[in-house]
Amino acid sequence: MTADKYDILKQYFGYTSFREGQEQAVDALLAGQDVLGIMPTGAGKSLCYQIPTLLLDGITLVISPLISLMKDQVNALVQQGVSAAYLNRSLTEAQYHKALANAANGQYKIIYVAPERLESASFLRFALHADISLVAVDEAHCVSQWGQDFRPSYLNINKFIARLHDRPIIGAFTATATDEVKSDIVRLLNLHHPAVVTTGFDRPNLFFSVMKPKNKSETLLKLIRERSNQSGVVYCSTRKKVEEVCELLNRSGVQATRYHAGLDDAERAGNQDDFVYDRKSVMVATNAFGMGIDKSDVRFVIHYNMPKNIESYYQEAGRAGRDGEEADCILLYSKADVSTCRYFIENTEDNESLSPEQREFFKKREEERLKQMVLYCTTGTCLRGYMLKYFGDAHKKSCGKCSNCLTEFETVDVTVEAQKILSCIIRTGQNYGAKMVTDVLRGVPSERIQRARLDRQSTFGIMKDVRAFEIQYIIEKLEEQEYIQSVGAGKPVLRVTELSYPVLRGNADVKIRKARQQKSKTVDREIKAVNSELFEALKVVRLYYAKKKGVPAFVIFSDAALTDMCRVMPTTDQQFLSVSGVGRNKLEQYGEAFMRVIREYDKKA
Ligand code: ADP
Ligand code: MG
Repeated sequence: MTADKYDILKQYFGYTSFREGQEQAVDALLAGQDVLGIMPTGAGKSLCYQIPTLLLDGITLVISPLISLMKDQVNALVQQGVSAAYLNRSLTEAQYHKALANAANGQYKIIYVAPERLESASFLRFALHADISLVAVDEAHCVSQWGQDFRPSYLNINKFIARLHDRPIIGAFTATATDEVKSDIVRLLNLHHPAVVTTGFDRPNLFFSVMKPKNKSETLLKLIRERSNQSGVVYCSTRKKVEEVCELLNRSGVQATRYHAGLDDAERAGNQDDFVYDRKSVMVATNAFGMGIDKSDVRFVIHYNMPKNIESYYQEAGRAGRDGEEADCILLYSKADVSTCRYFIENTEDNESLSPEQREFFKKREEERLKQMVLYCTTGTCLRGYMLKYFGDAHKKSCGKCSNCLTEFETVDVTVEAQKILSCIIRTGQNYGAKMVTDVLRGVPSERIQRARLDRQSTFGIMKDVRAFEIQYIIEKLEEQEYIQSVGAGKPVLRVTELSYPVLRGNADVKIRKARQQKSKTVDREIKAVNSELFEALKVVRLYYAKKKGVPAFVIFSDAALTDMCRVMPTTDQQFLSVSGVGRNKLEQYGEAFMRVIREYDKKA
């Protein structure tokens, strides 16, 4: 009996069903049709060409832009029992020729190459004699000058393929969906009537949240402490901010490392490895950090600054939760971020080849995009819905899984509080700002208050049971509704308006909209809560093997696989095989060790 795509899916990758789009791409490639696959990060593009590889007779060449990507993918394949190798400049001359000789002997089923290799004479000699049935172009948007990741050497792919005796099937994959990029890929890679496979942009396992903290560094620390033991990325808008935030985290006992274009290659690579291999749990980075990251167990992406458009935000935030497990995408918004973005738009340098008109056009477009980004940060509607609409995808009115959907707003009557605040402003002579008024109302005996004898005021301490931020929130709302005004530049003071007298006389009510406590988002997390002890124990075993084999932990098993083990609690080979992400090879290599831990835990429980 010959294996079919489902056998391969289970036997090597340990999965029982395809995700959206995968089967369509696999079928087309197996039928000899080119494929253009446009699927978001984490959708599972690799399987689209890896499964056909294992069913077709010849070998597959995968063209991939980054050394770190190749290394991780090849590691993962070898762990799954597939004979794979990469050819790039991380190999020594001797290693490269050895790998090439092995390849010529037919030892590898799938070979990852950097696009620059396609021009080298030794590689061409090999390719002309090899039986190449499939060429997969990963991150295919690199062929387009419209994208941010343009790689000139991607333009050689077409020339290379044209030199082969038999034209292989070509599959091109990317997460970038703009029309310019799509048509560039088809044209520049010369795809023949490709099956175009597109899936929705939604990432249901991601939780989206926007916060407007008064103190970003405190909030960041709190968020990270709540997520200790988890891998996460913190994106900042500038190198300087990266340095600052990374230092703050390290000083506070968080294992953090950094990445930006100002560091030399060696340090960048070293820091990236520290993160991928879990030696450091948090990566603080500019947007220079990203495409090379296939780390599937990133549990949170926090934006310390707002990025300049939704495209960048969705791409960066999307690096969380590739394994399909729950992950958080949190944006810390402040108005100052908008000015930083404006500055970047005004001062881009890489536009020198453009005419003044073109430059003006791009600037306008960027400003428009920035506006949409700011709207995301300030909207009261569903955040997921907002982004899906931006990308032209269908969406529900409310996803129930973003900070806006989980915040209930209520209208509260604050007439009594407003009367107290307004009379305090009047009795202190309309001479003070919000902070001072709040202190008087709360009865804070500060030196300044005593000096001005405000502690003898009848309103001193009449709101001593109300928290300062709540008083300030009501003051903000009173100002929005024009009961009061801030007057004067520098240190503005509060003055009451005509509107406030009816309130003080008890002839008018004041109502404000207030966020109720956020509903907690414990959805889907029960399994982990129940078995978190087992989950942590399994992580320890995973780390042991990761170190032993010199691969990242998620290459041994993804978080999704460990979660499934906690659910299934397998104690026999058969049961272990039924865990999502466990194929033949993983069972043979690790089944016993992981089942031993599960049995121990079972006995204790
Ligand atoms: P992409 O390249 O589209 O960003 P990957 O190919 O890296 O995504 O896959 C992301 C994750 O999804 C990997 O951990 C992979 O093992 C997992 N995955 C892929 N296909 C499936 C599937 N059919 N069932 C379960 N998990 C899958
Ligand atoms: Mg990929």
